[in-house]
Amino acid sequence: MTIQKEMFGSLELDKKIVTALTDMGFEEPSPIQAATIPLVLEGNDVIGQAQTGTGKTAAFGIPLVQAITDFKHIQALIMTPTRELAIQVAEEVGKIGRTRRVRALPVYGGQPIERQIRALRNNVQIVIGTPGRLIDHINRGTIRLDHIKFLVLDEADEMLDMGFVDDIEEIMRSLPVERQTLLFSATMPRPILSLTKKYMKAPKNVTISKEELTVPLIEQYYFETKDKIEGLCRLLDAEIDGKLIIFCRTKKGVDDLSIALSSRGYMAEGLHGDLSQNQRDRVMKKFREGAVDVLIATDVAARGIDVDNITHVINFDIPQDPESYVHRIGRTGRAGNTGVAMTFITPREFRQLKLIERTVKTKIQRRQLPTAANVIE
Ligand code: ADP
Ligand code: MG
Repeated sequence: MTIQKEMFGSLELDKKIVTALTDMGFEEPSPIQAATIPLVLEGNDVIGQAQTGTGKTAAFGIPLVQAITDFKHIQALIMTPTRELAIQVAEEVGKIGRTRRVRALPVYGGQPIERQIRALRNNVQIVIGTPGRLIDHINRGTIRLDHIKFLVLDEADEMLDMGFVDDIEEIMRSLPVERQTLLFSATMPRPILSLTKKYMKAPKNVTISKEELTVPLIEQYYFETKDKIEGLCRLLDAEIDGKLIIFCRTKKGVDDLSIALSSRGYMAEGLHGDLSQNQRDRVMKKFREGAVDVLIATDVAARGIDVDNITHVINFDIPQDPESYVHRIGRTGRAGNTGVAMTFITPREFRQLKLIERTVKTKIQRRQLPTAANVIE
C-alpha cells in the first residue's frame, strides 16, 4: 500500500491531493497520468493521446487542482463534447479537489442558464462546459476569461466530430495568451493537429499506444444471425448478469429495441438525443445506481459516459467505423476491470467486421449463440 501511495507521491503532489486520490481508490497513476502530470506541473502545453478508459480526466484534473490557487476567480476552463461528460468531469475534478476545497462547476445546454449564473457567482475556480453554453456565458459576461490560466480540451476528437470546431476556436482566441493549453483525445485526426499548431505553445506529446490498452482486458466476440432480437434475448437469459450497454445505429433503433426488450420483460432504458435533459439524467441515474441493468444508446448519446462496472457492451448494430468500435467497447473493461464486447452482424456485414479487426489489430472471435436449452432460470 505505502509503495503505491508513494507513486502518486513521487509526482510531487500536494499531500492533500494524494489523500483525496486515495479516498477515490486511486492508488497508482495510470500510464497517461504518470507521463502527463509532471509535464503540466512544469508549465508545458500537453497533447495527450490515449484510448477511452485510461484515466485522461485525472491526467489533467490532478495537475489542474494542484495549480489552482485560493484566488476566487475562474482559473481553468475545460471543454467537453457532451453534457453528460461535463457533469462527469466536474464530479471527478471536484473529488480530486475536495481536500483543497477547489470549486468546480459544470455548465451545459439544457439546464436553465439563470441557475448556472447564480452558481457561477459562488467562487467557482474551474468551469467545465460544452462549447456552445460556454460561449453563451462568455458573451453575457457571466464567465470572465481574464484570470484563466488553463484551457483543457477533453475528448477533442469527439468535439470535432460533433461540429464544435468554430466554437472551440472562438473560445481559444478570446482567452489570455499567457495560459497553458492541454488537449486530450483518443484519436488525433488532422483537424485536431491543426488546432494544436495554431493555438498551442511548443506542446509536449504523450501517446499511450492502443495495443497496451483494450486488447488484453476486453474479450471480443461476434455473432452472425438474422434474428438479432432473439439472439440478444438468449444472451441476456443465458449469460449476461451485470451492467450492459447496447448500441444501436439510430435513435429509432434505440426506441424500437427498448420497446422490444421491455415487452419481453427486461429492465431496459433507452438514451438518445431526442430525450430532454431531465429524462437523460434520470435514465443515467437509474443505470448508475443499478435500478436498470440494460442501457440502450446511440453512439452520440453514449459519448464519454463512464459508469463503473459495465461488464458487457453489445453492438446490436455494427458500428459505422473502427473508431466508434473502440469508443463503444471502451465503455467496459475500464480501470483494470475485465469486460466483454459482443457484436451482432448479418452475413452482409462480415466485411465491415473484418475492417474493424484489421484497424484495431485484434481478433474478434466468432461464437455461437446460446441455444434455448442453455437458458438458466
Ligand atoms: P478516459 O477519459 O481516458 O476515457 P476516465 O478519465 O474517464 O478515462 O477514467 C476511466 C475510469 O478509471 C474512471 O472510472 C476513473 O475514475 C478511473 N481511474 C482513473 N485513474 C485512475 C487511477 N489512477 N486509479 C484507479 N482508477 C482510475
Ligand atoms: Mg475522458
